[in-house]
Amino acid sequence: VRFADFGLSPDIQRALDEQGYEHPTPIQAQAIPVLLQGRDVMGAAQTGTGKTASFALPIIQMLLAHANTSTSPARHPVRALILAPTRELAVQVAENVKAYAKHTPVRSTVVFGGMDMKPQTATLKAGVEIVIATPGRLLDHIEQKNVSLSQVQMLVMDEADRMLDMGFLPDLQRIINLLPKKRQNLMFSATFSPEIKKLANTFLTDPVTIEV
Ligand code: AMP
Repeated sequence: VRFADFGLSPDIQRALDEQGYEHPTPIQAQAIPVLLQGRDVMGAAQTGTGKTASFALPIIQMLLAHANTSTSPARHPVRALILAPTRELAVQVAENVKAYAKHTPVRSTVVFGGMDMKPQTATLKAGVEIVIATPGRLLDHIEQKNVSLSQVQMLVMDEADRMLDMGFLPDLQRIINLLPKKRQNLMFSATFSPEIKKLANTFLTDPVTIEV
């Protein structure tokens, strides 16, 4: 399998070519076609397997249908939300998303705790299609009405097992309650514990399970 077989937009393919990615990793080869069909996915994959691109590429591809070059914030509602347990992971995911989307009009930003809200607020208010966030700080921005999740079509819970270990379940529930009911859900976890299966049963609809 080659990336070119997925029929991704030439603007995404160009970014992959520049990074020297030719062949998808096993998680990418399994997840990308399923996600492009709009299915929910429960993926068991560790960091280092290429799991970030396995969800980031389909998200950017799906958002290109809506992306536009307007500078009006109202034309750039948040359509994809990626939740991560830590600042480090959120920043790493955000860097990947930006690199894959660099030749597209799709905008993204990252928000996490432990730093000034103001620069994050300005970026959110300018309008972004993809938000990568740690749960607590995202809720702070929601409470301050810096961001609306009413147009979110795709939700990713990355390292869901770590989010549960860190006690984020109530925050996740609060955030998910604010999302449209009709949306695509992806959950990635290093392990499939009973708690993770329960979370998957609550938040995913008829998911395809992928283990690498
Ligand atoms: P991840 O598991 O998403 O953290 O990715 C691990 C590393 O592999 C990152 O540095 C990616 O840039 C790189 N990577 C992801 N997919 C590919 C690929 N298909 N070919 C080469 N490198 C990749």
